Amino acid sequence: MSFSAPAPSDDEVNAARLDPARLQAVCDTGLLDTPAEESFDRLTRLATRLLEVPATFVSLVDAGRDFYKSTIGFGEPLASARQLQGRTFCHYALLSQGPLLLDDVCALPGFADVPTVQTLGVRAYAGVPLVTPEGLVLGSFCAVDMQPRHWTARDVEVLTELAHATLREITLRQALTQLAETNRLLAEEMHKVGVLNERLSELAHTDALTGLNNRRAYDQQLAREWRRVQRNGAPLSVLLVDADHFKAVNDQHGHAVGDHVLRVLAGVLQESAREIDVAARVGGEEFAVLLADTDATSAAGVAERIRSQIAQAEAMPVAGVTVSIGVATLLAEERPDSLQHRADQALYMAKSQGRNRVVSAR
Ligand code: GH3
Ligand code: MG
Ligand code: MG
Repeated sequence: MSFSAPAPSDDEVNAARLDPARLQAVCDTGLLDTPAEESFDRLTRLATRLLEVPATFVSLVDAGRDFYKSTIGFGEPLASARQLQGRTFCHYALLSQGPLLLDDVCALPGFADVPTVQTLGVRAYAGVPLVTPEGLVLGSFCAVDMQPRHWTARDVEVLTELAHATLREITLRQALTQLAETNRLLAEEMHKVGVLNERLSELAHTDALTGLNNRRAYDQQLAREWRRVQRNGAPLSVLLVDADHFKAVNDQHGHAVGDHVLRVLAGVLQESAREIDVAARVGGEEFAVLLADTDATSAAGVAERIRSQIAQAEAMPVAGVTVSIGVATLLAEERPDSLQHRADQALYMAKSQGRNRVVSAR
């Protein structure tokens, strides 16, 4: 379209320029204030050659300025400033609904006083609007001449093709940015899933009441330690710790107090265990401690210390709580279940010998 009649009014131009949906679309290009890029400059350079004009550019019409993603042929300062404030021809391209062709701006009322006529000596302007699929005009792909010029159908065809290529470039860049954002979110979600999985696995191996390892974790650790012993021949001992007459604690003080007692027992076991030991709750009021690199004598010592600490534990909510402990140390060629069985037998002996004592398996 060429405006031969007076230019559209300032009100009309401003309404189109400041349309919020359009401004959002301009912002969403992600191109405002980005540096010049070869992918866009290639298109303007081509336009300059094909149309044989002194200058071409890609403008994005922002709220208070026109931003030029690419300018070819302008000397300083426009080429480096890359934006213009005030009225420009591109504002009229927002309203033109197609190519805006001005053969001699000085002959057109309303266009002759666009500032670039004075500042840059622009006499002819051709602009093809960059229209999104939603019908929003981002700016235009433009050519200017410093003397009057009749824009031919071929000129318009070239500018239209290059405007399309420019829009494709913009869309592609948006898609790539979105992809990067999606990837970032995906990585974040994957991290969360990883953390949740770790937590789940922790829960699957933890006894809810005491926070100690549960039976399942204990069995796995015992199997692991046993395999390690097969390689390095180090000693390995286990303690089975069972609360004495615990049923009576529940009966006399209630289940909640019973739970409290179990937590105190667990605390003593946890404190007496070294970093490499594994303390676990393996039954209702029954605990186990896996002592790596520990022979029978040392294991009996650890067991005795635990027994006496429990008998004197200040945190215990009920007086007189004691434990019996069975100790077993892995024999040559012995399997883990046999080790566990001997510890159990030793515990049974400790019970039958009167409780509150440590018995080591033979
Ligand atoms: P012994 O000295 O022979 O071991 O006697 P005991 O009473 O400790 O043994 P018994 O096996 O007869 O009873 C164990 C009691 O432990 C019965 C059960 O109600 C209680 N118990 C098991 N799990 C829990 C628990 O999670 N919380 C509480 N409060 N009590 C529990
Ligand atoms: Mg008991
Ligand atoms: Mg028991």
